[in-house]
Amino acid sequence: GRPEAGGDASPEKLLAPVLSAFWDEPESWTLETYRRHEGYEGLRKALAMTPDDLIAYVKDSGLRGRGGAGFPTGMKWQFIPQGDGKPHYLVVNADESEPGTCKDIPLLFANPHSLIEGIVIACYAIRSSHAFIYLRGEVVPVLRRLHEAVREAYEAGYLGKDVLGSGLDLELTVHAGAGAYICGEETALLDSLEGRRGQPRLRPPFPAVAGLYACPTVVNNVESIASVPAILNKGKDWFRSMGSEKSAGFTLYSLSGHVASPGQYEGPLGITLRQLLDMSGGMRPGHRLKFWTPGGSSTPMFTDEHLDVPLDYEGVGAAGSMLGTKALQCFDETTCVVRAVTRWTEFYAHESCGKCTPCREGTYWLVQLLRDIEAGKGVMSDLDKLNDIADNINGKSFCALGDGAAAPIFSSLKYFREEYEQHITGKGCPFDPAKSTAWA
Ligand code: NAD
Ligand code: SF4
Repeated sequence: GRPEAGGDASPEKLLAPVLSAFWDEPESWTLETYRRHEGYEGLRKALAMTPDDLIAYVKDSGLRGRGGAGFPTGMKWQFIPQGDGKPHYLVVNADESEPGTCKDIPLLFANPHSLIEGIVIACYAIRSSHAFIYLRGEVVPVLRRLHEAVREAYEAGYLGKDVLGSGLDLELTVHAGAGAYICGEETALLDSLEGRRGQPRLRPPFPAVAGLYACPTVVNNVESIASVPAILNKGKDWFRSMGSEKSAGFTLYSLSGHVASPGQYEGPLGITLRQLLDMSGGMRPGHRLKFWTPGGSSTPMFTDEHLDVPLDYEGVGAAGSMLGTKALQCFDETTCVVRAVTRWTEFYAHESCGKCTPCREGTYWLVQLLRDIEAGKGVMSDLDKLNDIADNINGKSFCALGDGAAAPIFSSLKYFREEYEQHITGKGCPFDPAKSTAWA
């Protein structure tokens, strides 16, 4: 059993991994290892249900999308119209690129079969006979491993014609993107998969209505789908017993930055950064937390005042940010917040797809202002300009990238305005970059 949010936070109790349970075993990625750990047992249970019952079961488990937005997974499956005569598709979003987010790639590398099993279950539920995995293109070793796991699954009868005698025919295609952050946005991803330049489409219609090749499509994150087999195998009540009421289950937290032991930590939703730091060895010795992101740089930053915020959708939301991808980037007192925000904003300006003016132009001008301030060439009115530009991007852009770019501007000005002012009055950065390893 796992503790409820706010319960006993001893490291032993927090560490009862499911997704990462045997990542450290030799050849953890093979079908043989996966089967030794009850692999594909969840699928057998799923195939004994009707597709509608299966969707209701996943809905009742309380599983919410792990790609960032936290949309209920079962509900997304339920949106797929039935008896419409059109093909249905499942597309797994493995284009993980949010700064600090590094959970799906290790999961795929260490245990690709948990994803493949989840894909077969999901396709049975939504009556799909063709699924795609859209993988971030840069991770070639993961691509090779996925291809090998898919080959094993075909050979064992988990993919292909008449899966385990269920009547389900299922093809699985692994596709590697070309390294654009925007192709992680679900509709840009679909355009890219169709062979076009990846740029977001207008929503609605959502992919559930008109997705890949204009057909009903479920787009789910890797971790969401990889969580499904365990839910089937161990039961929805078991899953619901973890986490908090509206944010059920276990999840992967990516801890990075100035921490003693960066890496993936699995725990229930609703634990706190303080608990995660306690179990992982804390900040690097001799230093203290200054600011951090709950879900990558697109989520408003927190400070050391927020160490006890429950890391679930409601808790983080109530404290003024978003849980997002659970990428906890931790920065200590040696870090210049202006520099950190400048680096993030440069990233957004570089990755902006250019489709809409507020984001394309706004991110460019944010970078110009931030670089000036960081270099000691800023003036006080630049701070209002930063706020104003971010305000003209936020909620006025075509997709979530724009809102993500505005988030660190607003939150850094809210918590660290004095530090911006110091750069302006002191005509330069008061921090010694040599003391901070975050940007090495
Ligand atoms: P969203 O809330 O608009 O949508 C979430 C999901 O629910 C989508 O799949 C969407 O199709 C579906 N949905 C929402 N309303 C629907 C409706 N009425 N009918 C049918 N389906 C509906 O969020 P988003 O713009 O897709 O994603 C934003 C999130 O992406 C952010 O929270 C951010 O954390 C995350 N993100 C993740 C990464 C990464 O690397 N994993 C990178 C950037 C951003
Ligand atoms: Fe492209 Fe940015 Fe507009 Fe999204 S917000 S469509 S990334 S220009």
